[in-house]
Amino acid sequence: MMPALTQVYLDGKFLPPDQAKVSVFDRGFIFGDGVYEVIPVFGGRLFRLPHHLARLEASLAAIRVHNPHTAGEWKNVFARLMEEHGTRDQSIYLQITRGVAPRDHAFPPDAVPTVFAYAQPLKYPPAEQLAEGVAAVTTADIRWQRCDIKAIALLANALLRQQAIEQGAAEAILVRDGLMTEGAASNIFIVSGERLVTPPKGPYILPGITRDLVVEIARANRIACEEKPVTIEMLRTANEVWLTSSTKEILPITRVDGRAVGNGKPGPMHARLFALYKEYKRAFIEGKVE
Ligand code: PLP
Repeated sequence: MMPALTQVYLDGKFLPPDQAKVSVFDRGFIFGDGVYEVIPVFGGRLFRLPHHLARLEASLAAIRVHNPHTAGEWKNVFARLMEEHGTRDQSIYLQITRGVAPRDHAFPPDAVPTVFAYAQPLKYPPAEQLAEGVAAVTTADIRWQRCDIKAIALLANALLRQQAIEQGAAEAILVRDGLMTEGAASNIFIVSGERLVTPPKGPYILPGITRDLVVEIARANRIACEEKPVTIEMLRTANEVWLTSSTKEILPITRVDGRAVGNGKPGPMHARLFALYKEYKRAFIEGKVE
């Protein structure tokens, strides 16, 4: 089913979704050969836009596709897509594939990237999830070794998320060589004593924009926050566990593999960090921070 949108952006044009067509020979369709971004819009402003555009640039560089738009051009595309939803909080989805070419693994020398974007109202996690937390299950990280690229090829992530859902959980916490990497579609923090801990950046995690903001907010408020490897043992004995993403923000995980995290309720550190995050967001909406 198509989302109920009046327009999407495709290759320089704004079109109704049912008129936006991509070739079956697009390498995004054939190989999953492309990258994407999801940018939240709060109070009509694109949240952490420079960070998202920098990550997009890094993803494109990693797959050797030229960024088809300047930052100014992207902003114009987003502004037009955002008009549709007025002042509501939204998320922008954008993806760039290597373009259309006869099927061959080697890069086509002259393909033109396909560029697609749309905006939709932001679906926040239900209030009950924030109040009670969500369940997660641990599972082997079966993905590749370039999880730092925001690649559209998300088959492993989809399988892992589905596995979590089928086990009655909201998210899969991925484990590689005894170390926690991230969620199927989120980064993970633990609270150990009075300290926040999250795995360091590298090839096995996506450098989450929300993750970085949580680290930044914690440090600005003198809350100890370490980026260091998290063992499965540290996860099992954590006082609190959270997931972070642009659309889920900072969500407590209160059960891991059927066992309660701490006392099974969202913890005081989550309450503190989430209040600071909301304060930051309010200041952003009011134009007081960039
Ligand atoms: N890790 C993965 C695998 C993701 O798919 C996402 C976002 O969807 C994140 C982390 C969180 O990144 P961000 O905070 O930039 O949304």
